[in-house]
Amino acid sequence: MKIVVIGAGSVGSHVAYRLQEQGAEVTLLDASAPGMGTTSSSIAMLNDFPQRAWPEEAGKAKLRTEIHDLFHQLAEEVPGDYLHLSGSLMWVSEAEEKEFRDLAEVATSRGVEVEAITPARARELEPGVVFAESGTVYLENNSGWVDGPGIVRALNARFVELGGTLLQGARVVAIGRTDDRIASVTLDSGERIDADAFVNAAGSWGSHIAQMAGQAIALDLIPGVIVYTQPFEAGQAPQRIINTPAWCGRPDPSGGLAIHWRGHSQTARHGENIDDPAQMMADVAAVIPALADTLPARQSVGIRPIPPGGPILGALPWAPNFYHTLSHGGIGWGPMWGWMVARELLRGERVEELSAMRPERFYLNPSQVGRHADDAEQQ
Ligand SMILES: Cc1cc2nc3c(=O)[nH]c(=O)nc-3n(C[C@H](O)[C@H](O)[C@H](O)COP(=O)(O)OP(=O)(O)OC[C@H]3O[C@@H](n4cnc5c(N)ncnc54)[C@H](O)[C@@H]3O)c2cc1C
Repeated sequence: MKIVVIGAGSVGSHVAYRLQEQGAEVTLLDASAPGMGTTSSSIAMLNDFPQRAWPEEAGKAKLRTEIHDLFHQLAEEVPGDYLHLSGSLMWVSEAEEKEFRDLAEVATSRGVEVEAITPARARELEPGVVFAESGTVYLENNSGWVDGPGIVRALNARFVELGGTLLQGARVVAIGRTDDRIASVTLDSGERIDADAFVNAAGSWGSHIAQMAGQAIALDLIPGVIVYTQPFEAGQAPQRIINTPAWCGRPDPSGGLAIHWRGHSQTARHGENIDDPAQMMADVAAVIPALADTLPARQSVGIRPIPPGGPILGALPWAPNFYHTLSHGGIGWGPMWGWMVARELLRGERVEELSAMRPERFYLNPSQVGRHADDAEQQ
C-alpha cells in the first residue's frame, strides 16, 4: 500500500516508521525541517504521576499503561541516544500535600511506582537541588524524557534505511480527490504525489491540512514557552526531571535545563507562561543554586495541538483513506499512534480503545469544536 504521511514531527515520524516497517511504501513530507515544529519545543516528559491518577476515558487510560513498554521496545529497534529514563522528583508544598497524597494512592493502585520521600532524601539523590524543607517530594524512578529532535532523527534514519522516502522542505498546498476518495497531495514545488492512503500528522497545522481535504477538524492551539538555562559545570547538572508547583525542568542535550514555567500547580490546566525570564531564573536558582546569577541561554515557543475532547485518531467514515493522527502529548504517545495507524490502515483492524477518539465527533457533536488553527502561527 502506498501511503503519504504529512508532517515529520514526533507523531508523523513514528507513524511513517511503523507503517514502512510493517510493509507499506511510505513517503514522509515536511514543510520545513523534520522535528523542528512543536516537537523541538517541548518538555517531552514520559511520566505516569500524577497523570495516571487523573480521570480518563477507559480506552485511552488502557493505552497509557503501555507507553513505557513501547518505548523500551523502540529503543531495541531504532538505535540512537534519545530515551532518557532518568527518573523525576516532584516537590509538593504543604498546601497541596493532601491532594497529592490522594493522587499518589490512586496512581499506586493503578500500578504506578511512585514513592513519597522527604526533601532531605531528595537532596541525597540530587545534591545540586535544594527543595524547601517543608512539603513532600514524590520520586518516580521509571519516568524520564525524550530528546524530541533526536528521536525524529533516529526514526527518520531507520525509516530511510527501510526504503521509505523522506522529503524535507516539501509543503503540502493542495489535496486532490476523485469522486469518492482522497487521491493525491500537491507540494509547493508543484509536484503531485498519488497514494492509496494519507495520514494527517501536521500537529498544530492539522486543521489546515484537514481543510484542504474539505474536512472540519478542530484544535485548540495553546502556546508554551520553554526557557533553556546555560550549560552546567561538569558534575553539577540535575540528572532527573525536577518538578515544582510553578515549573518543571528537564535535562537538555545542550547541557543545561529546559524549563517550562507555568506559575501554578501541575494539576491546573495549560495556558500560562512566564513573562519575566530573569525573575524566573532567580526563582529556579533558589532550588538549583548552581544557576544563581545566570541568564537564560535561549527561549522557544511550542504550540500545543490540543484537540477538544482528546486525541483524534482515525478517518471520517466518508473519507476512509484520509487518516488523522493529532494529539497533545505527542512525544509520549508517538510510538502508540504509530502502532495504531499501522493496525487500522494496513491490517484493517478497528481498535476498540480508539473509539472515543474518532474525528466524526466534530460532526456529530459540533459544540465540541474549538478554535481553528488559523488563530496562531508557530515560531
Ligand atoms: C511547553 C510544552 C510542553 C510539552 N510537554 C510535553 C510532555 O511533557 N510530554 C509530551 O508527550 N508532550 C508534551 N508536549 C506536547 C508535544 O510536544 C506535542 O504534542 C508534539 O511535539 C506534537 O508533535 P507533532 O508531530 O504532532 O507536531 P509537530 O512536531 O509540530 O510536527 C508537525 C510537522 O508538520 C509539518 N507541517 C505542517 N504543515 C505542513 C504542510 N502543509 N505540509 C507538510 N508538512 C507540514 C511541520 O513542519 C511540522 O514539522 C508539550 C508541548 C509544549 C509546547
